[in-house]
Amino acid sequence: MRNKQFIPAHRVLMGPGPSDVPVRVLHAMARPTIGHLDPQFIELMDRIKALLQFGFQTKNELTLPVSAPGSAGMETCFVNLLEPGDKVIICVNGVFGKRMVENAVRLGAIPVIVDDEWGAPVSLAKVEAALSDNPDAVVLAFVHAETSTGVLSDAQALCELAAKYDCLTIVDAVTSFGGVELDVDAWGIDAIYSGTQKCLSAAPGISPVSFNERAVKKIQQRKVPVQSWFLDLNLVMGYWGGNAKRAYHHTAPINALYGLHESLLMLEEEGLQDAWERHAFHHEALKAGLGALGLSFTVDASCRTPQLNSIRVPDGIDEAAVRAFVLSRFSLEIGAGLGASAGKVWRIGLMGQSACKGNVVLCLEALDSALQQQGFSHSAGAGVAAAELVYSE
Ligand SMILES: *Cc1c(COP(=O)(O)O)cnc(C)c1O
Repeated sequence: MRNKQFIPAHRVLMGPGPSDVPVRVLHAMARPTIGHLDPQFIELMDRIKALLQFGFQTKNELTLPVSAPGSAGMETCFVNLLEPGDKVIICVNGVFGKRMVENAVRLGAIPVIVDDEWGAPVSLAKVEAALSDNPDAVVLAFVHAETSTGVLSDAQALCELAAKYDCLTIVDAVTSFGGVELDVDAWGIDAIYSGTQKCLSAAPGISPVSFNERAVKKIQQRKVPVQSWFLDLNLVMGYWGGNAKRAYHHTAPINALYGLHESLLMLEEEGLQDAWERHAFHHEALKAGLGALGLSFTVDASCRTPQLNSIRVPDGIDEAAVRAFVLSRFSLEIGAGLGASAGKVWRIGLMGQSACKGNVVLCLEALDSALQQQGFSHSAGAGVAAAELVYSE
């Protein structure tokens, strides 16, 4: 077979990420590549930093996009803030909390795990008990919006608890950033990481992070160097830092950063509050439509995160066949269950630019016909009609 260009299909992305990347962002990425130390690029770096500070709602000087996906943002927080022997309280209520434990163990930290059921939010009472039982813990880590389940935990209250027990916080905001309220400074978050491919609707592969002064102090007081050369913030700061003369650390993903900048501009133009409200609004329409099709959520309404909707697969329905059907007939991607919920749920993302009426209606039409094809008894067309009702209110 001869090699030829790769031309992907146009998909509608309603899984757990990546989300639809708007043409405006794709075009930005097609602009000319320049050097990573070009004065023009240095100016772009400053602009990206300011926009990230806006998005995170922080004045943190140490705010930058790590040149790797969300998982590397997680690792950046863990390897910089923790040293071998440090005790860290980690809340586990899904896949990404478990990954935090993996990070802690591999760097020689001592994790104290606060387990909650998958599909439930992090329990404040359990976290407070862990904090009071472990006065030597230095960090509390948790996932704000668990993408594996669709649960939103109370980040503000968790940070208040951590502060009360003099613990630093590491917050996973990969899915929450841009989709639900997030206020780094007001909530007292010490270290936070996100991703570009969820509610920012930029291309995957970059992880915005931010650290406050308390976190920076902990990093500066380390006794042993960060074992990851690439993620060591002391070194990265030589390139991304404000005051220091910019020096080569690694070659930044120049064109991907053009895309991130464009998506952050779009967020700024829309406004944070309006972006959060848009996610909540389309979630309401999707919820009404799914309910009318006879489908139910796995997560209680009190703690659902609007940008990730976990839907129970009805008895007798082939989970994977439905996803394959909507992909081939509607060019629509929805997500499968992760970990313990594999085969039992669909995860429907309404992230970033994917949170729009066209997508909600397409998704309901596609599920409607996939379910018809499998003989699931429901009232055809009811899903879209119910969503339209929400849109016309
Ligand atoms: C997607 C995601 C990650 C990992 O991000 P990648 O870019 O896939 O590495 C981490 N945490 C949460 C909550 C996520 O949704």
